[in-house]
Amino acid sequence: MSDASISFPIMPGDWLGMIGGGQLGRMYCHAAQSLGYKVAVLDPDPHSPAGAVADMHIRAAYDDQDGLKTLSERCKSITTEFENVPAQSLQTLALASSVRPAAQAVAVVQDRIREKAFLQSTGVPVAPYAAVLTPDDLAAAPDALFPGILKAARLGYDGKGQARVSNREQAQQAFAELGGAACVLEALLPLASELSVVMARGADGQTVFFPSAQNEHRDGILAVSVVDAQSASQGVADQASKAAQAIAEGLQYVGVLCVEFFVLQDGSLIVNEIAPRPHNSGHYTMNASISSQFEQQVRVTAGLPLGSTESLCSVVMLNILGDIWFDPATGAKREPDWSAVLAVPGAKLHLYGKSDARRGRKMGHVNVLGATLAQARSAASQVAQALGIPFQP
Ligand code: ATP
Ligand code: MG
Repeated sequence: MSDASISFPIMPGDWLGMIGGGQLGRMYCHAAQSLGYKVAVLDPDPHSPAGAVADMHIRAAYDDQDGLKTLSERCKSITTEFENVPAQSLQTLALASSVRPAAQAVAVVQDRIREKAFLQSTGVPVAPYAAVLTPDDLAAAPDALFPGILKAARLGYDGKGQARVSNREQAQQAFAELGGAACVLEALLPLASELSVVMARGADGQTVFFPSAQNEHRDGILAVSVVDAQSASQGVADQASKAAQAIAEGLQYVGVLCVEFFVLQDGSLIVNEIAPRPHNSGHYTMNASISSQFEQQVRVTAGLPLGSTESLCSVVMLNILGDIWFDPATGAKREPDWSAVLAVPGAKLHLYGKSDARRGRKMGHVNVLGATLAQARSAASQVAQALGIPFQP
């Protein structure tokens, strides 16, 4: 809103702002700093991964008025790494700074009911679903939604706040266990595969797409993303980019956006959800693309031209969860064998500086590069073996 009073581009040497202190914020800081910017991060956690590397860490809650004021005074342009930042805070920041993505777009994404309705309105197919605000809504839900997944409308991530339900009775029970908060009930679809498209859109409408990644989830958490540089934009991938474009334009989106898709067994494409920020499935771009998704986010925040999304090579991204700190035989905690990982040619290790490894917690990732996908897969299987994580080469 106040964009008009800010003179873009914001040049290196100046400050950029980030709300949210997780690993996505940390990788944003690194990208911004390598372009010569200083970054102020607002996050309440004194040990936040982004706070640890930021030029300034404002330790305050996301809705703390003094904290927001400090951030806004310091930074002409501010972005986020986390869709659950209160939209009201983004609106407050927008009174004095440019906020990219805008509060109105983030508000749609942070509520699954609004998000589904919006996605449906763009004409891109979504899974059959019903909004569930009361037990009566479940009683009235079509039979075709069972078996299904009940997903909390707000604050879910990595499969948390979700329950697979095979019938109406289980759905009622799961709804009660989720505290009776608003949910979406979605039909459980027969997935052939999953893919995602990360894109960036500037304030002038310039839009760039990274090649879509093939994603594999385990226990509701992303485990592996794969990009074949040789066959990046064929068939369904091309369809996915077009759908992502329609979604970004529908939201008048400015920033980095990830669109997650399901490919069904009949080959059709369904949009699952969107993230108003860089995404775990786009981490491969840090080593396998000319400009990373974080560099694109810096460019959008600063009002600079977007970078090339061209692939430099094929890549397999393996997520590193806290689970691998626990010895499978004894359950005792120990450090993973990083030397063995780094001994594999093409392995690029990224750790997020989190000291407390817990099961299911995202601790880092490895991008394993190869001139061909076969080479990347074979190197990735060595890395996976060194870390004790499952991987089919
Ligand atoms: P994240 O934050 O990791 O994106 P999330 O908590 O927002 O996860 P979803 O993306 O909704 O959760 O679902 C996580 C995974 O569960 C999906 O990637 C997919 O593997 C599976 N899943 C979700 N919805 C469905 C569905 N309707 N049919 C089949 N599988 C599904
Ligand atoms: Mg998801």
